[in-house]
Amino acid sequence: MPTCAICGIPTEHKCTNCNQTFYCGKVHQKQHWLTHKVDCRPFKVEHSDQLGRYLVATRSIKPFEIILKEAPLLCTPSQVTSPVCLGCLNGIEPSDYIDCENCGWPLCGIECKGKPEHEAECEFTVKRGSKVSTLAIIIGGDSKL
Ligand SMILES: [Zn+2]
Ligand SMILES: [Zn+2]
Ligand SMILES: [Zn+2]
Ligand SMILES: [Zn+2]
Repeated sequence: MPTCAICGIPTEHKCTNCNQTFYCGKVHQKQHWLTHKVDCRPFKVEHSDQLGRYLVATRSIKPFEIILKEAPLLCTPSQVTSPVCLGCLNGIEPSDYIDCENCGWPLCGIECKGKPEHEAECEFTVKRGSKVSTLAIIIGGDSKL
């Protein structure tokens, strides 16, 4: 029989959000919440030799319910694209953008200069020793890049 996460007493009462952690009653459930909330999720991770790790729902999941948020490994423009801001990846207007003062790549405004998405190319371009010419990019490119 499962046991209470706080006192270890056998119990059948479980957290209804995740169905995975058990409590002897409301008092211990409340007491455990600060610890439990980080892994209180309506799914568990299983493993199969054939497929590797996969998720299994531990209760019904409602339509459009968010059960997992994860940051992308990489944010980058499409391989073929019109000019975009390298901070937020929104398209930029030829009449309304700034050059990053460090590297020269186009940004839609000063608020995108410090974005972590821009850090890597900014750093590598600065190391290269010369700025990128955005004029060449905006009007269709030449070999100066
Ligand atoms: Zn208990
Ligand atoms: Zn839970
Ligand atoms: Zn931007
Ligand atoms: Zn930059």
